[in-house]
Amino acid sequence: MTPHGCDPPSLSCRDLVDLVTDYLEGAMDPATAASFERHAHDCPPCLEHLEQMKLTVRAAGGVSDEAITPEARSALMERFRDWNAGRGG
Ligand SMILES: [Zn+2]
Repeated sequence: MTPHGCDPPSLSCRDLVDLVTDYLEGAMDPATAASFERHAHDCPPCLEHLEQMKLTVRAAGGVSDEAITPEARSALMERFRDWNAGRGG
């Protein structure tokens, strides 16, 4: 339960990586998709990841969890950590 039910949920970078396949499949509800797009717009590493996933999906002809290898995923998380460390603080 949240005190402000009307606030849209905000996504973390990790959420975005987890949800990118749902987003590309159109399996995401519109409110979450809006949060997803807003996050990607404000977060260059996520936007780049989204663009790369679009290309991967187009090349593979479909979306699969296997599109993200564990290696790629951990490399991505390293970049997110650098990005988050570099913005303010
Ligand atoms: Zn992000």
